[in-house]
Amino acid sequence: MSASQTRKVIRVSRGMPASDGAGVKLTRVIGTPQLRNLDPFLMLDAFGSEEAGDYIAGFPDHPHRGFETVTYMLAGRMQHQDNKGNKGDLGPGSVQWMTAGRGIVHSEMPLQESGRMAGFQLWVNLPAKDKMCAPRYQDIAAEEIPTVNSGNGATVKVLAGNYGGLAGPVTAVATDPTYLDVTLAAQGAFAYSLEPEYTSFAYVFEGAVSFGDDATAVKEGELAVFSEGAGLSARAGAQGGRFILLAGRPLKEPIAQYGPFVMNTMDEIEQAVIDFQAGKF
Ligand code: MN
Repeated sequence: MSASQTRKVIRVSRGMPASDGAGVKLTRVIGTPQLRNLDPFLMLDAFGSEEAGDYIAGFPDHPHRGFETVTYMLAGRMQHQDNKGNKGDLGPGSVQWMTAGRGIVHSEMPLQESGRMAGFQLWVNLPAKDKMCAPRYQDIAAEEIPTVNSGNGATVKVLAGNYGGLAGPVTAVATDPTYLDVTLAAQGAFAYSLEPEYTSFAYVFEGAVSFGDDATAVKEGELAVFSEGAGLSARAGAQGGRFILLAGRPLKEPIAQYGPFVMNTMDEIEQAVIDFQAGKF
């Protein structure tokens, strides 16, 4: 791959309906049998419902080891609590970046009994050398996330990484992630340059967006996976569009996964189960 090459869409896919936690309905976009992962990204869930029955059961206490969980709220309120003493309310537009490291037990429960709840949960892998690091929790309010107006009809929230000279509030993550929330007005255009070898994808959740020089059309509810390359371009049609854009350094390490434990070998997975059952998280 040439560093000067622009990125183009190499795959478009839809998520599949799934249920997680105590029965929260969601769409699994990455982490399905058809799309196991996009190194370093292990999972992407999209959730969005006006029906309390779809989310009210929440995500009661459960463990994680070996990676990071990232919750980005679009609408509604959840409360996070963990066994390291962290507690935080996740409101609309906020992000929580939790590094599970060697082990954490947490819950994410709705703080509402009606109304719309929507957002994303992303799982980001950790390199082998960091899998047993101390857990870390970054709780970021909506107003701490910079918003950049490109002048070309793009409004960009910078959760992580850099755009338009502004840096997102999430810092010091091993895979050097970019996480942008891009809203395009009708005919709006967006351009971005990133590390050519980093993995990158977009998930369109409103309207429709065309990506790359060949203007591959991606509709609401579709994931676009990009080729390697330095530059990425996007353009909306008459109805506008909105997408999250992710990029990160691929780890290129073996992945051994058992539910909420993601390590490099099955021996490490067995140790994770033993440690969790012994209350060592
Ligand atoms: Mn969790």
